[in-house]
Amino acid sequence: MVTRVHTAKATICVTCAQNGPTCCQFVQGQASYSFPLSGVEMEIISACDRWQGKCFTIRVPNSTQFISRLKNHFPDDLDRIQVLYPEHGHHEHLSTDERGYCIFLGPKGCLLPGKFRPLYCRLFPFWVIGDQVAFFPFALCLAQKSTRSIRKVMKRLKMNNSQILSLYHELRAAWEIDELS
Ligand code: SF4
Repeated sequence: MVTRVHTAKATICVTCAQNGPTCCQFVQGQASYSFPLSGVEMEIISACDRWQGKCFTIRVPNSTQFISRLKNHFPDDLDRIQVLYPEHGHHEHLSTDERGYCIFLGPKGCLLPGKFRPLYCRLFPFWVIGDQVAFFPFALCLAQKSTRSIRKVMKRLKMNNSQILSLYHELRAAWEIDELS
């Protein structure tokens, strides 16, 4: 699920949002194991005038699927994931409506200005494996249409290697995957 950072990148994402379905629509029943929202990200969203004082998250149990998905995302940080997301714990994630659409999804895409969006949203479909930028194959993503070339996907989404690496490390810090020294 997701729409992105930057206004330039938004063009293809707006087209996607207008035609649907988009990565900001959860498949029914799967929202509870989508990405978590950290305290830092919640504070940033709350600082957005339009959403001040509004509730936009839901607290859900750390399901087996959720934990296993996180472990797949962070294969070198399994112990840390276990500490942050224990089996009987809970986490916050974005609220959705009855159709499974993210609470921030409007007819032209995300209603949040780019810098207020959750970090996972700003990064998706990109990820970092080791120190290499990669992307999640996602059938609905217009930027991936007819290509498996990361360079093409980056070009279509107007992102570059250093932006992706920087967002990824920002996410790791916000989600406390990297322990504070
Ligand atoms: S916050 Fe915005 S970008 Fe992220 S899932 Fe919701 S609508 Fe999509």
